Amino acid sequence: MLNDTYQRSIDYLRISITDRCNLRCVYCMPEQGIPTWAHADILRYEEIERVVRAAAALGLRKIRLTGGEPLVRLGVVDLVRTLAHIPGIEAVTMTTNGMLLSRYAVPLAEAGLQRVNVSLDTLRPERFRAITRWGDLDTVLAGIEAAFAAGLTPLKINTVVIRGQNDDEVVALARRAMASGWHLRFIEWMPVGEAAQDHRWRAQVVTAAEIRARIEAALGPLEPVTVVGAGPARTYHLPGAPTTIGFISAVSEHFCGSCNRLRLTADGKLRPCLLSAEELDLRTPLRQGASEADIQALLQEAVRLKPQGHHLADDAYVQGRAMAQIGG
Ligand code: SAM
Ligand code: SF4
Repeated sequence: MLNDTYQRSIDYLRISITDRCNLRCVYCMPEQGIPTWAHADILRYEEIERVVRAAAALGLRKIRLTGGEPLVRLGVVDLVRTLAHIPGIEAVTMTTNGMLLSRYAVPLAEAGLQRVNVSLDTLRPERFRAITRWGDLDTVLAGIEAAFAAGLTPLKINTVVIRGQNDDEVVALARRAMASGWHLRFIEWMPVGEAAQDHRWRAQVVTAAEIRARIEAALGPLEPVTVVGAGPARTYHLPGAPTTIGFISAVSEHFCGSCNRLRLTADGKLRPCLLSAEELDLRTPLRQGASEADIQALLQEAVRLKPQGHHLADDAYVQGRAMAQIGG
């Protein structure tokens, strides 16, 4: 078992498999995109497999593939199949914008993917286009349906709430989630990447407490539920609803005490914390003949470097990488 300095068990690795994306969400990337890394700089699938084998032998149990948009990388279904068959790995899941899910849901499920999280910030087509710049709401809704039909459930919807952009829709999204069987996760907008380099970012954050109050006012009291392995999300039931509503409140509440994860970026850096710029290079050792024990030593070092908590107080923002280059 991988335990860090603060008695947290780390059993979850988020792997960004590409920095490229077929959308340009306003809170994540500028319209022209971000300079992409050369193919040679991106970890090959065999390299990702080696890291996961080494991590699984140390007790890591869950993998989430993310990006950029993971479904734009060729061969992703084969990667899922490979990772899902590694001894010790109990779940391979994915976070996607859903644009290509209709095409990939069945092959992914057959390859061993267990669940998907789909990012969806609005139910209004024009607003969806404005937020994602290149996206199409109907295509994503069809992708969600396809994921359901393929059994990629429980299906979670990730909604980033930004003041003045979609905060007026939180109740509508909650109603739709209850009606459609989605588990909804509201995410506070985090000051990562260039959109955050304006010290006024805090004014755009809608806190989990505020979202929750709006939902309770409209739909009734939320009942806390304990979800094993939920990591930083705080999760609730709406009375009478089979699905849950969760809040990922990096900015307004310290969720760091329940953090259970490490991140691996597409260019092969181990990132102990989403909200800290510290990274460990894994790609160079992988390409210089590192043994499994060497990889494990680096994984253990990354776990040891996990900070007790982030430092978003005082209007700090996370420098160095865009969210699409970390994986969210
Ligand atoms: N492209 C995929 C997607 O959008 O689901 C996976 C990568 S994306 C970077 C992962 C998650 O990060 C998405 O749910 C996205 O909404 C979220 N995200 C991106 N930028 C964010 C920010 N500044 N604050 C909070 N969440 C953010
Ligand atoms: Fe692409 Fe996901 Fe970032 Fe949107 S949030 S631009 S879909 S990586």
